[in-house]
Amino acid sequence: MFKKILIANRGEIALRILRTCREMGIPTVCIHSTIDSDAMHVRLADESVCVGPASSKDSYLNAQAILSAAEITGADAVHPGIGFLSENAEFAAMIEDHDLTFIGPCAEHIRVMGDKVEAKKTAKALGLPLVPGSDGAVSSLEEAEAVCAEIGYPVLIKAAAGGGGKGMQKVMCRQDLKEALDLAQSEAKANFGQGGVYVEKLLMDPQHIEVQILGDHWGNVVVLGDRDCSLQRRHQKIWEEGPSLIPTLVREDMQALCQQAVQKLGYRNAGTLEFLYEDGNFYFIEMNTRLQVEHTVTEMITGIDIVKQQIIIAAQERLPWTQKEIRIQGHAIECRINAEHPETFLPQPGLVEAYTPPGGLHVRVDSALYQGYRVPAHYDSLVAKLIVYGDTRDECLARLAQALREYAIMGISTLVPLHMRLCQALPVKEGRITTGFLEEFLQSSSAV
Ligand code: ADP
Repeated sequence: MFKKILIANRGEIALRILRTCREMGIPTVCIHSTIDSDAMHVRLADESVCVGPASSKDSYLNAQAILSAAEITGADAVHPGIGFLSENAEFAAMIEDHDLTFIGPCAEHIRVMGDKVEAKKTAKALGLPLVPGSDGAVSSLEEAEAVCAEIGYPVLIKAAAGGGGKGMQKVMCRQDLKEALDLAQSEAKANFGQGGVYVEKLLMDPQHIEVQILGDHWGNVVVLGDRDCSLQRRHQKIWEEGPSLIPTLVREDMQALCQQAVQKLGYRNAGTLEFLYEDGNFYFIEMNTRLQVEHTVTEMITGIDIVKQQIIIAAQERLPWTQKEIRIQGHAIECRINAEHPETFLPQPGLVEAYTPPGGLHVRVDSALYQGYRVPAHYDSLVAKLIVYGDTRDECLARLAQALREYAIMGISTLVPLHMRLCQALPVKEGRITTGFLEEFLQSSSAV
């Protein structure tokens, strides 16, 4: 087992990883930027190293400084967390080249799955169904026109290097294609440094369903069930739940296909395969080769510590169970508490004047907030995750509503009031949530 793990991240996810390391008796090193010197992850780590100024590109994305921090402190493994360098194949390779262990998949799998065009080609070869669309990137208007004529409008133009719901353009008819293609290409270039785009059939109101998997170095792959992440704002998830809300037979089919695909790929560590589901069919859209924000939902319904398994796998130990031994029980919901205005969604950094998180049976809060902490403007606005478990979905929702009522965060605006409203919404209560739901809900409630 590792002697010391460097956690190359910040905020709630750094704390999340740190807690498991502690439990496993593994000392931790946290990194931080100058502005984060009194952040919770720094306070709780065994050691900490400042890796640069506030701007992410100079600190949490500064691969060289992070590597030096690992070497100086004698860490023998690096957990990249979520975001930042977690899906950067060069970083993973660089860590391994320096005889440290990257707690994640091999660089090659990160590279293949990081490019969505490559990922779709790979998924197709592995037998996963795809949304109809272009075979690869489209570079000219003629090429795009030919694909669209074949699959039919409306279509979605997406960035090959996309992420975070950015860089997608809906195209309703042929006349709009040229403008949308130009815009998508320039947005892709501006956001992701490369202008490669591809075309997909636009599904009108799908559900976003994803499958959590773990694979070890010995060819064992287990599926830890699925999650429904359809409640999104601008293609970004803000509420996730599991098990997903689609028919059981479809879920079983999807999960069995994922297990086979991941086994064929020889994938190691934690990963998530994302799908869209509509009218009884499911289509692969992408794979995330890292821990996900919403892994907590799966932890609540399986009782499995996914970070612990990531560490075990990276240390080349075997997964401790077979698929048959995985038990999914009850229902869990996660609410992302972003420091954002609950109506405009604009970031709301600032001083946390008072802080009282909820508690009680089956209520989990993953957060690095504390009273007197100043939420910096430089990073992601996710400041807390509230995850609640219930024997049934109804019990889970009732407990969630109660926990949200208790949650007091003063000084900054957060999404807590929005989540409280969502708990009361009829489609949410009835489990009728599609990716278009939130936008409609916000429009109809602002009209009232
Ligand atoms: P990103 O990596 O930027 O998050 P994804 O490909 O994972 O992008 O898609 C994010 C969300 O965008 C999906 O959950 C869904 O709501 C929407 N989306 C993506 N592709 C399609 C599609 N072909 N049709 C309809 N909605 C889509």
